[in-house]
Amino acid sequence: METLSVALGERSYPIFIGTDLLSQAHLYNPHIHGKQVCIVTNETIAPIYLERLKSNLSASHISSVILADGEAHKNLTTLNEIFTTLLSEKHNRTTTLIALGGGVVGDMTGFAAACYQRGVNFIQIPTTLLSMVDSSVGGKTGVNHALGKNMIGAFYQPQAVIADISLLKTLPPREISAGLAEVIKYGLISDAEFFVWLEQNIELLIQGNEAALTYAVLRSCQNKADIVAQDEHEGGIRAILNLGHTFGHAIETAQGYGNWLHGEAVAAGMVMATDLSMRRGDISSEELKRIVDLLERANLPTKAPADMTPEQFVDLMGVDKKVLDGRLRLVLLESLGRAIVTSDIDTKLLMETFAACR
Ligand code: NAD
Ligand code: MG
Repeated sequence: METLSVALGERSYPIFIGTDLLSQAHLYNPHIHGKQVCIVTNETIAPIYLERLKSNLSASHISSVILADGEAHKNLTTLNEIFTTLLSEKHNRTTTLIALGGGVVGDMTGFAAACYQRGVNFIQIPTTLLSMVDSSVGGKTGVNHALGKNMIGAFYQPQAVIADISLLKTLPPREISAGLAEVIKYGLISDAEFFVWLEQNIELLIQGNEAALTYAVLRSCQNKADIVAQDEHEGGIRAILNLGHTFGHAIETAQGYGNWLHGEAVAAGMVMATDLSMRRGDISSEELKRIVDLLERANLPTKAPADMTPEQFVDLMGVDKKVLDGRLRLVLLESLGRAIVTSDIDTKLLMETFAACR
């Protein structure tokens, strides 16, 4: 097992990464301070893993909430189901919430923990690759509103993150690929050496090799933890984690949420950001090709949908939350392994990228 720490002063916490961690009670019991625990999961994950987790907890009062599966349920109505269980089963301020699930369950449980009685402890047990490398680290929690994704939320850090690689065995291959998009992102924005490792090991990751997955999750979490430790509330450098996301967000919106997975849209979006970086003279055509090749080997899309016009991109990117002061800000690559955030964007080059990447 690997352990790393997210260095946030008194809000610091450990991330444990390894195989068969769900059955290792000594990892999570020290982070449960009272007798009460409430596990939040969903209808897909509960039948596979809920009993196994429950049987390992030493708390005497254990409740569970089984939510409907899907991004469509990540809203205030579903969040209220968590509060209803907590209140009706008399959980007090010493209770600990455990998120057992992907990013949807993790974001909602974290937000419920931030709000319930003004803040109770919580532990993340991410069950998707994306949630292990991204959403469970960094403290962003929240739900969607009909008028915007992730628009209601809080920064709230967990007591511990337990990334049990063995749980990925039951995750559909398409979800593994979507998680790999965010893994590859760390190579692009801050870790050129890791990018080379990924070029050498991508097939092992696709095949579900546990040693390779453990290393990829560790290295991804290290990169994210370093960035978050420098900028917990996204005042600056943390924005580089959004590489490909502004383009990707436009694709997700145009296609209707759910048709493209988030990681898939981010993959195509990262190619667009790299293409624009190449047109600015910062990335070579060989480097662009290496990135496209790696994403393809991870079974990810590398182009926007053919029917998306440049005008559609302009429209959709104009309303993105990453637009500051009405000016488009994009994360681009300064070199392979180094990202910058810039609002100095040449519209002509951007239009060339829109035309080239579909
Ligand atoms: P998800 O939580 O919807 O999980 C994907 C699917 O896999 C679901 O159907 C789920 O039930 C299923 N599943 C999960 N674990 C499984 C397992 N071990 N075996 C079988 N099936 C399993 O999606 P996700 O990609 O994990 O997370 C996406 C969410 O994360 C979005 O809501 C996004 O906004 C959020 N997110 C948050 C942050 C953050 O910083 N907080 C960062 C990135 C993404
Ligand atoms: Mg993302």
